[in-house]
Amino acid sequence: MAKTLTKEKDLMGWLSQILIDAGIYDYRYPIKGCGIWLPYGFKIRENMLKIIRKHLDEKGHQEVLFPLLIPEYNLKKEAEHIAGFMSEVYWVTKGGDEELKVKHALRPTSETAIYPMYALWVRSHKDLPIKYYQVVNIFRYETKTTRPIIRVREVLTFKEAHTVHATKEEAEKQFKEAVEIYSKIFDELALPHLVLRRPDWDKFAGAVYTVAHDTIMPNGRRLQIGTVHYLGQNFSKAFDIKYLKPNGAHEYVYQLCYGISGRPVAAIVAIHSDERGLILPPNVAPIKAVIIPIYYKKEKEIVIKYCEKIKRTLEKNGITVETDYREEETPGSKFYYWEMKGVPIRIEIGIKEVKEKKATVQRRDTLTRVEVSWEELVSYIKKTLHNIQGNLKKRADEWMKSMIKETDSLEIARKEINNGYVIKTPWCGREECGKTIEEITDARVYGYKYGQEEAKGKCPICNQEASKIIYIGKTY
Ligand SMILES: [Zn+2]
Repeated sequence: MAKTLTKEKDLMGWLSQILIDAGIYDYRYPIKGCGIWLPYGFKIRENMLKIIRKHLDEKGHQEVLFPLLIPEYNLKKEAEHIAGFMSEVYWVTKGGDEELKVKHALRPTSETAIYPMYALWVRSHKDLPIKYYQVVNIFRYETKTTRPIIRVREVLTFKEAHTVHATKEEAEKQFKEAVEIYSKIFDELALPHLVLRRPDWDKFAGAVYTVAHDTIMPNGRRLQIGTVHYLGQNFSKAFDIKYLKPNGAHEYVYQLCYGISGRPVAAIVAIHSDERGLILPPNVAPIKAVIIPIYYKKEKEIVIKYCEKIKRTLEKNGITVETDYREEETPGSKFYYWEMKGVPIRIEIGIKEVKEKKATVQRRDTLTRVEVSWEELVSYIKKTLHNIQGNLKKRADEWMKSMIKETDSLEIARKEINNGYVIKTPWCGREECGKTIEEITDARVYGYKYGQEEAKGKCPICNQEASKIIYIGKTY
């Protein structure tokens, strides 16, 4: 990997390069904003999906699959929604040589694909709640600078849930549950996050309000990694989704939608890596440990035999292991290679380890090396994987905390944001003051904490008592 690219100097240049070098994602496809998940990256993506599916399924969600094409008349049914998405929609206008009578949109998100069907399926309160999700690709004609995984025109792994409820109370309860599910998912991905309610001028098009999970990239920019939208009855009225109440009256349903893109993988890569390359949290690492033999020619057979024994034993205990027996590479270059790929544990086996029935084990996160006896090896590896997972999360949480500064001076805020920090500042809650804060600091208002955060101080624009503490900074 080119040494001149570091994540401190040029995060996106570095990211594009390491994604290719580590075999995760190649962004050189001939269409702007489109990239390829490579085998190693695909496995990381699959491991992330497993975690997401587990949490959604546990809470009664069911997976479905809807078509990619949406007829124009449905996409346009909810006025705010289409206004928000219009400039980003890809249209299919022809089938072969024939002009289509009705244009088809490639889904930019699936509300308008799913909700006409919900209108058919929901008849009585017994049909509710519905908690469906799907894992699909979505298309957005991004006009801003595109970035590998982070800002693309085809999002290859969009996990979107769409729930339907009989009452406002049930929908609000589901909203809390959705936010909690996402927090657990990002915890398991070892991603530090803020849970922020977006200001009204930055909510999802068509939503009543939006809460987002944000992480901070090493250069201080916000990366939105998950969103939960309360739709109220906005879409049910547009799509005529209603049910018969026990008293015989019709009522429009209350809805939510929430989604996570492929971005968490980019965040994991950017946040946890060091100058040697990736450091993958064991929960998503495709390979948990790599075994590297070190031998002189005549010892080869006995060393490899011992490596194979370790491999079988670890695999029997559910630990995914790789061996690297390449003749043409030195042990040193193998160390370098697997460190770059972020494998959490390296096991070195030489003749000494064979004779003394032990293994030399190195952790990728702290780079500490220890000798472990054969008898203790399995339990040591399991424990260490667990510790690495915890350590990465803790380290990243502390780091993110250090990236957030508090001030009520917008002059200081502007300066610190330019230095790569995120700022917390008091706010009266009025949109015009919020937008003025954005102008003065040349940054974006991320929002305010979902749940409780005591607001002290005065709004720096109008000097009235603050009702919220807002987070502001640069974004992707
Ligand atoms: Zn104000």
